Amino acid sequence: MKVLIINSGSSSLKYQLIQMEDESVLASGYCEKVTIPGSFTNHTAHSQKVKTERELPTHKEAVELMIELLTTGENKVIDSISEIDAIGHRVVHGGEKFKNSILVTDEIVNEIDALSPLAPLHNPAGVIGLRECRNIFGSEIPMVAVFDTSFHQTMEPYAYLYALPYEYYEKYQVRRYGFHGTSHQFVSERVATLMGKPLEELKIISCHLGNGASVCAINKGRVQDTSMGLTPLEGLMMGTRSGDLDPAVIKFLMEKENISVQDLDTILNKKSGFIGVSGISNDQRDVENASFEGNERALLAIKMYEYRIAKYIGAYVAAMNGVDTILFTAGIGENAIHRRENVISYLGYLGIMLDREKNDLGKQEGEISTNDSKVKVFVIPTNEELMIARETEKMVEFKKHTV
Ligand code: ADP
Repeated sequence: MKVLIINSGSSSLKYQLIQMEDESVLASGYCEKVTIPGSFTNHTAHSQKVKTERELPTHKEAVELMIELLTTGENKVIDSISEIDAIGHRVVHGGEKFKNSILVTDEIVNEIDALSPLAPLHNPAGVIGLRECRNIFGSEIPMVAVFDTSFHQTMEPYAYLYALPYEYYEKYQVRRYGFHGTSHQFVSERVATLMGKPLEELKIISCHLGNGASVCAINKGRVQDTSMGLTPLEGLMMGTRSGDLDPAVIKFLMEKENISVQDLDTILNKKSGFIGVSGISNDQRDVENASFEGNERALLAIKMYEYRIAKYIGAYVAAMNGVDTILFTAGIGENAIHRRENVISYLGYLGIMLDREKNDLGKQEGEISTNDSKVKVFVIPTNEELMIARETEKMVEFKKHTV
């Protein structure tokens, strides 16, 4: 089975064509500056990366270019789109409605669209991708929507509710949803395999540390808690997002700086985190390099970042009354050996010990704790596209057997 994965952003479209029998990537691509002048697309197939500079005024042109690159020219991987068996779409917010992935119909697209107020920065782009694909591919090729939030839908009300007047939950579904669900699911399943234990026997703390970052407590295969909330702004400090803060800061700053809600939203989402504290960059590598040169604000940003991760891990150990394994994933989690080392150094009291030699191997999948560490620590490279492809295959096979 060949599954096409689509991740549609407000000004981008990422895709991967995966051969499910061996889970190999036949082709992948990234259309950038969609809807913005200067669009370009990098398409990789047969180990070759080719850049196409072509204006993509809407996502329709991006989907059409993707099809052209997949089916024509030297780097084509299929002769026609009829060879694609299913399409899996990443959708950021599934609200309370979508507890699992779902086969897409026009009605489902409308229901996802109706959730846009919960995720105004993310869902409209996903809906555009879904609609364009349905227009272009037709309803012959099954499409599946896979939600970042679904994996977290096992949380109990005491974990997902905010201590606000209950009516806001009833009226607007204001609550913690959590994100990066496909990543947390992928890495937690993988760590269980590596440990040779069923998920149902494990207490796992998964740290997805990329530009966006979240921690997830997975207790016997079910998410008990996670750091992101109604939106991906809550929780850890991130590349450009503040993470947790006293909500009273919002009123205080709006009054002091005489700025609008919209401006403050931009500050919290785009101008805070690493870039806000260090004043240098949203990229952890740049901030780390500056810290090596003795830049004090860079050092402070790094220290804050690590401290906050350690605090979440401590909280989740308490919430689950224990932990069997802590894992690190995504750009920073997989690569930044000093971040891992410093976060784990906070946890010695819990008997958690890092094996420096193993940790220094960087991105490699595997255990990085000492043999006598009370809790195993792992690095697990994430693969959200593959997780979406597996979900898509599962849904399509299920449909075949139930029709
Ligand atoms: P996104 O959330 O955009 O998918 P990524 O998972 O790619 O983000 O993570 C981006 C972050 O990972 C950046 O802060 C970057 O500095 C960090 N990163 C990527 N590669 C490395 C590396 N080799 N060493 C240290 N940090 C890295």
